Amino acid sequence: MSAIKHLALADGGPPPGAAELAANFGDLHAPLSRAQAAIEADACLYCYDAPCVRACPTAIDIPRFIHQISTGNLEGSAHTILSANIMGGTCARACPTEVLCEGVCVVNRTKGAPVKIGLLQRFAVDHLMETARAHPFARAPRTGRRLAVAGAGPAGLSFAHRAAMLGHDVRVLEARPRAGGLNEYGLAAYKMADDFAAREVEFLLGIGGITIEHGIAVGRDVTLEQLAAEHDAVFVGIGLGRAARAAVPGEALAGVDDAIAFIAALRQAADKASVPIGSRVVVIGGGNTAIDAAVQARCLGAASVTLVYRRGPEQMSATMWEQDLARMNGVAMRFWSQPVAFEGEGAVTHVTLAETALIDGRLVPTGRTDRVACDQVLLAVGQQMDALPGGPRIDAGKLWIDGRYQTSLPGIFAGGDAVAGPDLTVQAVEDGKRAAHAVDRWLKERAA
Ligand code: SF4
Repeated sequence: MSAIKHLALADGGPPPGAAELAANFGDLHAPLSRAQAAIEADACLYCYDAPCVRACPTAIDIPRFIHQISTGNLEGSAHTILSANIMGGTCARACPTEVLCEGVCVVNRTKGAPVKIGLLQRFAVDHLMETARAHPFARAPRTGRRLAVAGAGPAGLSFAHRAAMLGHDVRVLEARPRAGGLNEYGLAAYKMADDFAAREVEFLLGIGGITIEHGIAVGRDVTLEQLAAEHDAVFVGIGLGRAARAAVPGEALAGVDDAIAFIAALRQAADKASVPIGSRVVVIGGGNTAIDAAVQARCLGAASVTLVYRRGPEQMSATMWEQDLARMNGVAMRFWSQPVAFEGEGAVTHVTLAETALIDGRLVPTGRTDRVACDQVLLAVGQQMDALPGGPRIDAGKLWIDGRYQTSLPGIFAGGDAVAGPDLTVQAVEDGKRAAHAVDRWLKERAA
């Protein structure tokens, strides 16, 4: 991971102007130049049984793609990446590489820092997306099979691309106006600058054989049963679309908002200044969504942002690098605290926090409380799956699948966050890819 970006923040001053907003929400990491990429590639030791590959959920052949960069074969390098992970561009930007491939890179031991795998991956994929005249993957001969996909997020799109490669025709149904799911609506704007999520979807669709229909929510506008009757198989990749609430008194007060909705509004706003932000913001949560919301609240000009988490920094699902990003940009971190009341007359003015402690492995209140003044609260306390009436078996709020991605209903498969989330984009991409192969095998077995 490269150095931590500092935002153009003017504490106590006027709200950030257009130039400051553009800088704050601009690319978190500067892309590598060709010369920088050559130097970085030369640092790779091309390890046998490379630990970086084992740490990648999509098992990208990292030494191979780095070697291809070092020999000037950028198209080949991108092909190596994208054949394992069709969203290698997003993952190069948004993966917590510090705890995946770069975290285990052996160069850490000799040089104190890893090969910049994420930035090299981005260098190769961006080059291909900017220069290729044709989609890099060919479709197998058409099978005549029609597959339906619920949800155009990372799992659904990865499934669709691989299924199209295998020769199937794919119809994707998406409730929202834009495709990309979490990549389009759920990641901080500074991770996905220059409308990258939309460009990646357009690139992915270049394989052909995939149509996306927007404004259709499976479960609301069409049932899984109907889809199964009209198609040869169905893949459910709807993710976790609903923000969980904190179940704390005062949640209905104005100013107590979903962090997910805040991030989505920022991602879709043509003018970031049009998204309302408080002056004193409290963010509740311990994951990447909480960090993305907290840092972006600062980007928008909030004078103070406090991130509250009920356990310690080691227990946060956000990585230490993400926590440092927040701290370096003025987010105050408050651990071992949880909200017990949001207070105010109509709009939130205070949050009461209860101190917590781990006693005999159980998180318990210590009895000490504190009252913190605020005018906005952003809740990032988890996500839930939208209801699927009459749908397949649900276990602990998630879709149940067997080892072949098959739900409890025949011909209906599932993967991604609705099965095992919330998780990283890279895991959803892997699920979608594997599920496409599982469906392909299932179709062949049925035809035999
Ligand atoms: Fe190269 Fe590091 Fe992977 Fe080894 S672990 S192959 S040095 S990137």
